Amino acid sequence: MKTTMDLTDWLSCSGCGMLVYRKRFDRLSMVCPDCGKHGQLTAEQRLERLLDAGSGTPVEPGPSVHDPLAFEDLVPYTDRLDAARSRTGMDCAVRVVRGTVRGRGVVLAVMDFRYLGGSMGAAEGEAIVTAAEEALKHRLPLVVVTASGGARMQEGAFSLLQMARTSNAMAALDEAGLLTITLVTDPTYGGVAASFSTLSDVILAEPAARMGFAGPRVIEQTIRQKLPEGFQTAEFLLDHGLLDGVVPRGELPQVLESLLALGSPPDPEWGPEVTDPVIREPELLSRRPVEQVVGLARDLGRPTALDHVAAWGSEFVELRGDRAGADCPAVVGGLAELEGLPVMLIGHQKGHTTQELVRRDFGMPSPAGYRKAVRLMRLAAKLRVPVVTLVDTPGAHPGLEAERHGQAHAIAECLRVMGSLDVPVVSVITGEGGSGGALALAVADRLLLCENAIFSVISPEGCAAILWRSGEAAPAAAAALGVDAGTLLSNGIVDGVVPEPAGGAHRDPAVASELVRDAVVCALRELREQDGAALREARRRRLRWFGTYRERVAV
Ligand SMILES: [Zn+2]
Repeated sequence: MKTTMDLTDWLSCSGCGMLVYRKRFDRLSMVCPDCGKHGQLTAEQRLERLLDAGSGTPVEPGPSVHDPLAFEDLVPYTDRLDAARSRTGMDCAVRVVRGTVRGRGVVLAVMDFRYLGGSMGAAEGEAIVTAAEEALKHRLPLVVVTASGGARMQEGAFSLLQMARTSNAMAALDEAGLLTITLVTDPTYGGVAASFSTLSDVILAEPAARMGFAGPRVIEQTIRQKLPEGFQTAEFLLDHGLLDGVVPRGELPQVLESLLALGSPPDPEWGPEVTDPVIREPELLSRRPVEQVVGLARDLGRPTALDHVAAWGSEFVELRGDRAGADCPAVVGGLAELEGLPVMLIGHQKGHTTQELVRRDFGMPSPAGYRKAVRLMRLAAKLRVPVVTLVDTPGAHPGLEAERHGQAHAIAECLRVMGSLDVPVVSVITGEGGSGGALALAVADRLLLCENAIFSVISPEGCAAILWRSGEAAPAAAAALGVDAGTLLSNGIVDGVVPEPAGGAHRDPAVASELVRDAVVCALRELREQDGAALREARRRRLRWFGTYRERVAV
């Protein structure tokens, strides 16, 4: 935001030009009340708005070489540094503070664009590394707020190397299982974008904040084309799977509070008093004709993954994107609280109306959906939180684009990573468990199936068309394939069946969600007592014997 009037009580918004009373603008954290444009904050202003009052302790980075090349262009570099210091009162473009955000301990590293455009020299690198080490020392999450034009040319290769230096400081936090969060503010470019900023577990951005490796002018000059509207903005990045969320400034403290709560070590004493609703004996199941079950499994009134988590009524922070170019709407995931226990919830997402179904690709994931799932599973393992998956898909998306982007590879990677996790994994097939696209999210310590859900190698229609050469044989195919709860439980394919309200889950979605929640809570209560290596070994042992004549190994 720039002042374009001499009247110092007023500011003109750089987004829409409206005049805003300075005090009001300040109260709104420099967000224009008219167009929503987020004006730049100084590091000081940012810290004031994020930290609990009086909680901040400054963390001083070690001394750095300030002008390693004795660089001089039109102006000696040291003069530029002096000017930046006197303008900002800062020693470098990053301020590091340890404090609390809504009562939760955190280390914050905040960049200030006024200091030589937030460019990264040795001192800035030192500040980021110091922040990471402080987080490590106190076992606290690290939050970085970025604003940078990129490298500091005046420091040559010393500047370049800060990318590797800061990236490796982030790696140490991964190894220690400490949550890292980035808030991208406008603009974040070059070496800062291509290092610590994008290595955080969770990447959030302010509305319209731009981030990229190459800046728009460089790209336009190189490709000799005009860039599309909104290119490299937060909204564009979210659509392309490169961010978890776009968060308006006013909502940030709440989102951070939720993330910090869900990313902190779970209570070892957790174990709510819940009655296990799961049926484990096939003879206790009420049977209905298989074709009826298939119809119920596909009923559009059944609760979806997002319905379930909403019905559980607890905290949920959705995390988005595969970090590689796409965000698949048919897979949702994020950190959720389950009866007080943080879990990583991942599920296929359908919808109740044609519009919702179209928006969610009918619950048929693209490779980006499976890659997002893998990313979230790895994050769960890092944070030591259990993985809970809700499976409901006709199958993985069959299509040109899906093939081009490696659908087979993406599903296979899910199967391998899920089997390798050293945290508890519970999967519930809540509707259609269609083929490899369903199994990709169902390699679990406990595989449960809702009473009217199905699990199948191929859709009954597909099977009928191929083997019976007639779609009309679908009911016969469904029966022959044994897609229903009774057959799956008898064959040991699923470990238990979650009852549904009379007539099916769509008749009383709230009760259906409670039953799913209780089933998962009871499974986790038991699994959490085992250590990670034992869980992984048992999960693999269970898979080892499927389809052999060996007796089933107790798990
Ligand atoms: Zn405005």
